[in-house]
Amino acid sequence: MGVIIGIIWVIVSPIACATVASSKRRFSLGWGILGLLLGPFGILVIAALPMSHEGLKKCEKCAEYVQPEAIVCKHCGNQFNSNSVTRENVDPKKLEWIKDINL
Ligand SMILES: [Zn+2]
Repeated sequence: MGVIIGIIWVIVSPIACATVASSKRRFSLGWGILGLLLGPFGILVIAALPMSHEGLKKCEKCAEYVQPEAIVCKHCGNQFNSNSVTRENVDPKKLEWIKDINL
């Protein structure tokens, strides 16, 4: 019985933690080590955490996260303009010549 618990603790938990962490876009090596330390409890912790959106961009139409290189949103079909200029980071004087261009 102790051997089975040991195998679950040392082999199954780190692999399961790393796999779940990878599917949630989290640091799988770190979660694998944490799975080794916490055992099955590590699986419960990573399973309860939400998906990481780090490094993704948010679609302005449907508010879903997509890859930063995406040209089209996979959720709503919104086309991202790679040359789009946001008003937050541009001087309003520079936008005057752009406002008549219909993109
Ligand atoms: Zn979208």
